[in-house]
Amino acid sequence: MKKPNMILSIRLFLYVFLSLAIVSECVQGPQFWGSLGFPSCDGDLQSPINIDTEEIPKYEYNDLFNFKHYDDVASRITVTNNGHTLMATFDYQPSKNRPSISGGQLGGTFEFEQLHFHWGAQIEKKYSGAEHTIDGVRAPLEMHMVHRNVKYNTMDQAVNHTDGILVLAALFEMNTNNVMPLLQSVDIVHKMVEPFMGNATLKPRPLSSVLPEDTTAFFRYRGSLTTPGCQESVEWVVFEHRAHVIVGQLNMLSKLRRPDQKLISHNFRPTQSVNARKIYHMVYKHPGQVTAESASAGLRSPLLAVYGAVAAVVLVCNSRL
Ligand SMILES: [Zn+2]
Repeated sequence: MKKPNMILSIRLFLYVFLSLAIVSECVQGPQFWGSLGFPSCDGDLQSPINIDTEEIPKYEYNDLFNFKHYDDVASRITVTNNGHTLMATFDYQPSKNRPSISGGQLGGTFEFEQLHFHWGAQIEKKYSGAEHTIDGVRAPLEMHMVHRNVKYNTMDQAVNHTDGILVLAALFEMNTNNVMPLLQSVDIVHKMVEPFMGNATLKPRPLSSVLPEDTTAFFRYRGSLTTPGCQESVEWVVFEHRAHVIVGQLNMLSKLRRPDQKLISHNFRPTQSVNARKIYHMVYKHPGQVTAESASAGLRSPLLAVYGAVAAVVLVCNSRL
C-alpha cells in the first residue's frame, strides 16, 4: 500500500517543482530567457523589432493575401485571461470554415488559431504597450492574430519549423469614438476575465471585424515568437494602418491579473536587434501600375531560405506568442 503513495508523492513533488520552474521561467525578465533554457531567445531572428521607416524602401506589389472565411460569423468567441495576456479563440460551424490566409507569396495556407494582445501601463496619461515600435514610437496596444501553416497539424509542430507560423499584427491608436469591436462590452468582459483563467463569451462576429480598415499596406519580415521558447518560425506582417481602441478598453486590459494575483501591468518584450534581416514595406498597386522595385524578386529568396535548425526546446509558453 505504501508504494503507490510514494509514487504519488514523487509525482506530486515533480508536478509542483515543474510548475514552479515553468512559472518562474516565464515571468523572469526577457533578458534572461536565453540562459533559462530557451536558447532560441538569443538568436539572430528575434521579435519584436523597431521598424525604421526611413531605412526601408517601399515595395509595390499586386498579389494580395487571399483571406478565406474571414467574413464568416464565428459561432462562438471566447476570451480568456491566461495570466499573461487576453486571448480570444473563435469557433466555427462547420469547423472546416475556419478562416485562413494564402497567396501574397506566403508559400502555403495558414489557418487562424487565436488572437491576443500586448499592452503596457499608463505613464503620465500615456499608454505604451505594443511590441513592435515604428520609428522608435510604441503604440498603446498591439494585437497578434496567430496562424498555423496547415501542413503542420498542431501549433507545437508548427513552431519548430521555419515556415510554421504567420502572425498578423495590428497596432492601435487611441480614439474617443471608435471602440475595438471585439471588446465592445467592456464591463462584462472585465468582470469575467479579471481573475487568472477567467473567461467570457463574446457576441459572435466575423474575424474581419477586428482587422484595421486597410490591410493592403504592411511591414513584413522573418522573426520569432516573442515569448519563450522564442522559436524563429514566424512570418510577421505588421499592418501600417492602425486599428482603434478607447481608453476604457485599455483600462480593462491593465486590470487583468497574473496567477499570483498581481496585475499584468505590461506584457511586451523589448525590441530585438534586426541584424542582417531585410524588412519589407509592402504597398499595394493595382495590376499594371507597379512601377517601383518589384516585391517578388526581393521577397522570394528570404521567404524560401532555410534558416538554421530551431532548437527543440520545451514548449511551455507557446500559446502566448
Ligand atoms: Zn503576441
